Amino acid sequence: MSKKVINKIRDSLFTLKAAVFEKPGIENLKVIDNAQEPKISDHDILVKVKEAGINPIDYLVVSGTLPKLNPLPHIPGAESTGIIEQVGSHVDNNNFKKEDRVIIHNKVFDGTCDMCLNGLDMICRNGGLIGAITNGGFAEYISVPERNVFKIPVDMEWDLAASLPVTSLTPYHALNEASLRINESLLVFGASGSTGMMAVQLGKKMGAKVIAVSKDNWIKTDFGADYIVSDYDRITENIKEITEGKMADVVLNSLGIGTWENSFASVGINGRWVAFGGLTGADVKLNVQALYSKQIKLIGSTGGTRKELQELVDTSSKQLKVRVWKKFKLEDIKDALQALFAKERDGRILLDVA
Ligand SMILES: [Zn+2]
Repeated sequence: MSKKVINKIRDSLFTLKAAVFEKPGIENLKVIDNAQEPKISDHDILVKVKEAGINPIDYLVVSGTLPKLNPLPHIPGAESTGIIEQVGSHVDNNNFKKEDRVIIHNKVFDGTCDMCLNGLDMICRNGGLIGAITNGGFAEYISVPERNVFKIPVDMEWDLAASLPVTSLTPYHALNEASLRINESLLVFGASGSTGMMAVQLGKKMGAKVIAVSKDNWIKTDFGADYIVSDYDRITENIKEITEGKMADVVLNSLGIGTWENSFASVGINGRWVAFGGLTGADVKLNVQALYSKQIKLIGSTGGTRKELQELVDTSSKQLKVRVWKKFKLEDIKDALQALFAKERDGRILLDVA
């Protein structure tokens, strides 16, 4: 067979349907059938994407809020799961093979800087995010380095798999950073959001007493929160009653300025306030006296380690579940991203790719 014919067959195999934009802006995002096929180098794995999670980070990428987008035209998508289609020539065949079900850890890292050497590859000095500094998973196929690929159990549902690399890993790492311990109280703002529902379940799994700030009762009845605070005008009063005056040991608030005052006022003595986002705005006013006199620790957290992701893969089939609000087709990617801001949103938004 001539090389030309082989190339033609190969091209037809990898005609890539993908969500692509040439210029930032959600209006510029379109789904095409002939995106540039992913390159598979020796240590890479080509994954046929099954489902992808829709997260605020994807909106930031598409709207051009994140710097250093690469390449252009760009395929976004930071959280994806699928089936191995092909492995590079140096990938360990005993570990990964065609048809394996996998998730993709979305961090690019060099493995050699001081952060990586300390196991903190998500804050690699020379790193970034898959879906931002590389093409992402809103496509039929994605090629990623072997070290970013994690096999998942055969019985894990795709919806949950598509909710591990960002939606579960981010709060899991944040709770570890906050050193949440057994019998401590954990207060979760935005508890019925994507990361919030995972934080509630992970907090329970870690042995904490979980107080959820939410108007949705399912976070208590279905997801195990011990208490629910739904009167947003009396949050600190409610926390005071629930904790018998102690206030919370760990407060998770990634909603930003809109909930800053209530969240900071809810931290008890020797408590930890932790965030991995600031959806409603990031510039807050801090009372330093309250901070030091109660010995409060303010903690920033981003992503999670590969070790933590492996722990989630090993345990989450039995211990985590996800509430899906809407699942969109790849063709409807714009609607999917805009749904992040829907007032009536009640659970996760996922992208059904194949
Ligand atoms: Zn590094």
